[in-house]
Amino acid sequence: MALVVQKYGGTSVGTIDRIRNVATKVAGFREQGHDLVVVVSAMSGVTNNLVSMANELQKEPSPREMDVLLSTGEQTTISLLCMALENIGVSARSYTGGQVKILTDSAYTKARIVNIEDSHIREDLKQGRVVVVAGFQGMDEGGNITTLGRGGSDTTAVALAAALKADECQIYTDVDGVYTTDPRVVPEARRLDRITFEEMLEMASLGAKVLQIRSVEFAGKYNVPLRVLSSFDDGPGTLIVSEEESMMENPIISGIAFKRDESKLSVIGVPDVPGMAYKVFGPISDANIEVDVIVQNVGEDKTNDISFTIQRKDSEKAARILEKVVKELGAEGVEVDNHVAKVSLVGVGMRSHAGIASRMFGALAAESINIQLITTSEIKISVVIEEKYLELAVRALHTAFGLKDAP
Ligand code: ADP
Ligand code: ASP
Ligand code: MG
Repeated sequence: MALVVQKYGGTSVGTIDRIRNVATKVAGFREQGHDLVVVVSAMSGVTNNLVSMANELQKEPSPREMDVLLSTGEQTTISLLCMALENIGVSARSYTGGQVKILTDSAYTKARIVNIEDSHIREDLKQGRVVVVAGFQGMDEGGNITTLGRGGSDTTAVALAAALKADECQIYTDVDGVYTTDPRVVPEARRLDRITFEEMLEMASLGAKVLQIRSVEFAGKYNVPLRVLSSFDDGPGTLIVSEEESMMENPIISGIAFKRDESKLSVIGVPDVPGMAYKVFGPISDANIEVDVIVQNVGEDKTNDISFTIQRKDSEKAARILEKVVKELGAEGVEVDNHVAKVSLVGVGMRSHAGIASRMFGALAAESINIQLITTSEIKISVVIEEKYLELAVRALHTAFGLKDAP
């Protein structure tokens, strides 16, 4: 008998029939004698729908009201799942984040979990109930509803598993595990039996939305045994393990992640004197715009070109800020490219292997794909390219590094 935290994502609870399917699965685990805490997302499409309704009313709605609104999606699903469970004779009780009490800071729309009070949950489990918790939400000290950022139900599940010292945290979704790359883009992508926390963290940060970044951080920090599996098919899924546990020779490349919807901004002709980068990025950061890849080139005329990428949704705002900065600095101008994407290779084996970057560039050159920016760290290499070549690039790299065949 084990204590298991399970999370079912939006597609897995997307219709009444699918909610019934989740209830049947949960009932099966109960029959095996396991204690279960089940975290659910909003039914698929619901959160996006709420966001568009808000945007119809106001261009920039207050983050506090956004959280009150967005948290309703998960509240619907918890009660429906409990009804489906009770209907097949499984005793269950639902809780919103605030009711649990999942205490967060007050950073609306991207709050961080500070503490979880587990007394209600433990009592219910003792009484033989399945506990169903709304993902993606919490409450701050002042009793305000907060949400944890898009995809945040994964983090609720891992945080609960850590707080309850669960034997495993299982993330049920619409794919049967973590793949070498998004199987929707590369049909021959291969499911990984295992991936290290570090690699998964890079994959998530670099665009693979199968797990929210914070959930992986949490799992690594608190050593939560974490598995990604399918809600629709049986199978072992993918286990996220520490590097010591992985106990095998690490493949050089484990996966390919990518991000669409990026923009590249370049400030041209920045005087080559100290303090310029600070003057460019200070106002960008003050506007809460997250900067990703940064590259600076020194020209012969003693000026620099500074290029960087951001999410496309922030592009207009950033361009407006930079127009002002350019005038102040006496730089030449700003260029904005709203059609770029980022592709990244991830693998802990890269640490001990040279020549990965050149192989990557070779594979892209063979497809005549121009590389605009490059950035590397110990276990990843990312390139920024024209967005229309994204799929081609991912497929070419998947083939070039032989990812479809198990090592
Ligand atoms: P959920 O609603 O269950 O949280 P998500 O849509 O957030 O599901 O995440 C699952 C999706 O992640 C898959 O349908 C898949 O298209 C995408 N994905 C991206 N990269 C990967 C990857 N490397 N392995 C598996 N799935 C991936
Ligand atoms: N419903 C939220 C979202 O769509 C949280 C989640 O699904 O994890 O982002
Ligand atoms: Mg998700």
